[in-house]
Amino acid sequence: MEVSRDHPRYRSLATRERLAQLNRAGIVSTTGLIAHGRGEAFDYLLGERTTPDALLAERVAVAYLLEARNPVISVNGNVAALCPEEVIALSEAIPAKIEVNLFHRTEGRMEKVIRHMEEAGAKKVLGRNPDAELDGIASDRAHCTQEGIFSADVVLVPLEDGDRAEALVRAGKIVIAIDLNPLSRTARAATVSIVDEVTRALPNMIGFVRDLREDISRRRRLISSYDNRANLRKTIKSICSYLQTAE
Ligand code: ATP
Repeated sequence: MEVSRDHPRYRSLATRERLAQLNRAGIVSTTGLIAHGRGEAFDYLLGERTTPDALLAERVAVAYLLEARNPVISVNGNVAALCPEEVIALSEAIPAKIEVNLFHRTEGRMEKVIRHMEEAGAKKVLGRNPDAELDGIASDRAHCTQEGIFSADVVLVPLEDGDRAEALVRAGKIVIAIDLNPLSRTARAATVSIVDEVTRALPNMIGFVRDLREDISRRRRLISSYDNRANLRKTIKSICSYLQTAE
């Protein structure tokens, strides 16, 4: 379907069209389409903008990623479909590894998502040969690589489900979530919850790498003064005040 650029919701419609195409190509799962719809609904409630609280979380997330010994970006079908280039740019800027991890995992779909990332320019994508398992996850998502998620100290999980986010935290990792729903189990479990749309969040984060790369003391100050619960409370308040002012 051709979406007219003049349409007031052009961006949203074009994104849906892209996700539907990549669903037909086997990269985005059908439940991934539903998860996107939930994200869109929360984005409406936020005013489809990056809030000051999200910007702070994005800065703190970059501070953690730069401080990490083995940072990993976990990629699922939706993330691969929505922003492969931004994932790659962030992974190169930090630098961090990229690992594909799917809720609806089949060998064929893993290969498709990994290849999609490689076609977008990723030089190395982990996940083809999982050789480790995370405790406490019932689904196939427990499979991961020793080199990547299993030994990671900091994991960025854009668009994660609550079970896996909680399992990663239990495994002792710093978990950075990007999730438009400030009430989700993922947002509540994560060390840093970025309540922002993933295609807005990642470019902001890439910009913050430049600011923070050489500034170790600022990074550490950001980390030590950050309170994720308080930041989530502020996000919920900003949704409420946005709703009160919206006509
Ligand atoms: P949980 O299990 O953490 O309580 P959930 O059941 O909503 O949450 P999923 O169904 O896996 O978990 O949904 C993934 C989350 O991703 C949703 O909360 C949705 O708000 C969020 N999301 C979807 N699309 C985007 C996007 N483009 N950017 C940021 N977040 C998104």
